[in-house]
Amino acid sequence: MHTLEGSEILGQETAVRQLELALEKGRFHHAYLFVGPEGVGRRTVARALAAALNCQEVNPGDRPCGRCSSCLRARAGNHPGIREIEPEKDSLRLHQVRQVQEELRFAPLAGEYRAVIIGAADKLTLEAANALLKILEEPPAATVFILVATDLALVPATVVSRCCTVNFRPLPEQVVAGLLAPEVENPLLAAALSGGSVRRARSLTQEAEGLLTTREKAINLWEQAGSSRQAHALEGEAGSLAQVLDWLTLWLRDLLVWRYGEAAKLVVNSDLESRLNQDTTSPDGLLMALEETMRAAGALADNANAQLVAGVLGPKLVRARRN
Ligand SMILES: [Zn+2]
Repeated sequence: MHTLEGSEILGQETAVRQLELALEKGRFHHAYLFVGPEGVGRRTVARALAAALNCQEVNPGDRPCGRCSSCLRARAGNHPGIREIEPEKDSLRLHQVRQVQEELRFAPLAGEYRAVIIGAADKLTLEAANALLKILEEPPAATVFILVATDLALVPATVVSRCCTVNFRPLPEQVVAGLLAPEVENPLLAAALSGGSVRRARSLTQEAEGLLTTREKAINLWEQAGSSRQAHALEGEAGSLAQVLDWLTLWLRDLLVWRYGEAAKLVVNSDLESRLNQDTTSPDGLLMALEETMRAAGALADNANAQLVAGVLGPKLVRARRN
């Protein structure tokens, strides 16, 4: 399966294979639930599947072809058999589901499939979820629903049970870097911070200047952590602590990779070679610092108080740096 634009769908081989098998056999589940993080290709694949259903290409393996009249309409966003709904003000509402329900009362054209793509199925209001459930319980003929969700726990279990779940994983760093390479200066750096999401990587590179300032802050904090006067420097960064910790994690990881003489191409901050060389912290100290930084980032993600997290981490970094 290709995207509608004809490019390869990268990094989601398992999900794509599962759908290709259905296409080859011409046997579709009436509802799919695409689950995974933002920016890893769920909508791209949903649109490709929707187009593939009515593609006129003879060989199922080459659907969607991206060239036939059906594909061209899908690509232009005006295929009468493809419907997409997205949340309004952060929720998918009852009237939106009702409207789809109304449209589905008419039978599809002979021999054609209809596809309904429901973005953010984890944002259905209770009423909307119940209405959708009713449709899924008695699905209209020749209609494939594709629900997209980030957080499976927020999709009502009754809806999940009516769908065939397809899992989308965070993209490998090399894939993100490869996708960004034509657009940005340091794709490896953005990819390493992206958590496997192309969307996140793109937004990171758009704020590239702020990004490098935060990197500088994080590295300075570490380089000056040898002096106990610096033990509380981190507390001054409470406002942007999550980003500073992201960078610090990456820097410590780079120092370890560098220290162990691993291939230099694995180093993300490759533009800072001389500073990597200057650091004399022992591998034990680096490991300790990395562990503590990751623990602090985890606590912060669990909504711990930033000031408090910084207060605990600061002295530990000082100790690790002297190690
Ligand atoms: Zn086609």
